[in-house]
Amino acid sequence: MFKESLAYGPVPSRRLGQSLGINNIPPKVCTYSCVYCQIGKTPNMQTNREAFYKPEKIVNDVQRKIREAKKRGERIDYLAFVPDGEPTLDVNIGEEIQHLKDSGIKIAVITNASLLNRREVRDDLKKADWVSVKIDAISHEIWKRINRPHKTFKLYKILEGVLEFSKNFTGELNTESMLIHNLNDSEEEIEKISDFIKSIDPNKSYLSIPTRPPTETWVKSPSEEMINKAYQIFKERNIPVEHLIGYEGNAFAFTGDVEEDLLSITAVHPMRSDGVEEYLRKAASNWKVVEKLVEKNKLKEVKYKDKTFYLRKIQTASPSP
Ligand code: SF4
Repeated sequence: MFKESLAYGPVPSRRLGQSLGINNIPPKVCTYSCVYCQIGKTPNMQTNREAFYKPEKIVNDVQRKIREAKKRGERIDYLAFVPDGEPTLDVNIGEEIQHLKDSGIKIAVITNASLLNRREVRDDLKKADWVSVKIDAISHEIWKRINRPHKTFKLYKILEGVLEFSKNFTGELNTESMLIHNLNDSEEEIEKISDFIKSIDPNKSYLSIPTRPPTETWVKSPSEEMINKAYQIFKERNIPVEHLIGYEGNAFAFTGDVEEDLLSITAVHPMRSDGVEEYLRKAASNWKVVEKLVEKNKLKEVKYKDKTFYLRKIQTASPSP
């Protein structure tokens, strides 16, 4: 019997606002064993879907958390399936989404997309309001090195599944790509990734870097130049791209604090120097703030195609959530 709650939070999430997490997979059951996974190697790699918990247990735990949060006056923007493994391995996820919709709160699922070539998985996820799919590589060899998939998987089949899902999903489709130094951060691979992502027309495309201790200690973030380059390559294709580089500040909120605003904006969008100037003008501030942030090693100046961009300096490993 599982006595612990399968719901947690609500927790603040940059992508989802205040989200109540649903842990519908025991640690750690997954179809992948990504080199950057924060939960460690996958001891239980499987491709068959299974009923890990009774759907009623999940629904009851979530409803209880919603009641508790309401009592405390806390807001919940999303009920989010973000478990310690791959959420679509739960054969009942469709039924659970269906029941949880009665709460009137939007449902989000963050998936590695590896099972999306199966019709029943696509049908289940179609019921959600917000889905994020992982696209770390388009080249088979690179995908194998980063995601270390189950040996029976083929990348082209997974990508076909993602494409198919994107055609019929009416909710918000997002993508997430983790950039790893010397694995998928070449211009060539990023171009391939962005071409594919363009073809599925996502609502948002997130580029992330490992900011928490990864499974493999040799995993490193790309350089700021490459992180910026990746962003520009996505932008050139008109993909609504954002960085997820681990800064959980007040993104885009007006704080009245110029330093804070610059750091939160550049954590998501590298700002071109003319954009920074314009912002400073509006904030009745001046370039000294930027110089100070660069000096303090909080902001990084990088060049791309004769232009200067400012990015928030990458944060290194922080404690696991
Ligand atoms: S897909 Fe997610 S849970 Fe599975 S190994 Fe990769 S990062 Fe970890």
